[in-house]
Amino acid sequence: MNTICIMCPMGCGLKIEKVGEEIRVSGNTCKRGEAYGKAEFTHPVRTVTTLIKLEGGGVASCKTDAPVPKERVSDVVAYIGTLTIGRDAKIGDRLHASLDGLETDIVITGTPTSGC
Ligand code: SF4
Repeated sequence: MNTICIMCPMGCGLKIEKVGEEIRVSGNTCKRGEAYGKAEFTHPVRTVTTLIKLEGGGVASCKTDAPVPKERVSDVVAYIGTLTIGRDAKIGDRLHASLDGLETDIVITGTPTSGC
């Protein structure tokens, strides 16, 4: 498997392969890249960033407070799409989401009044 490390702006190209029981990462220039490559190979996760509707129209930006399994990203986006929050929402406000075994908090990261 080939991918690009997204842990810093260097964007090292990684080659990840399983040799026996060992997962080998090459192309990284630091330990963070090795850890990222192994995680991408075994259990990739992503922080979800999207928009949430505001009462009366408009949107605020939000994100999950921690990465979620990559295969659950569409579930989280669909769930957030069903929500509407008050216009008094502030950056840092949290909503808890419980989605078929996945627990995560959604954090407001920008509102119309904050310039998002
Ligand atoms: S391997 Fe290290 S230097 Fe390269 S992109 Fe990843 S974090 Fe940055």
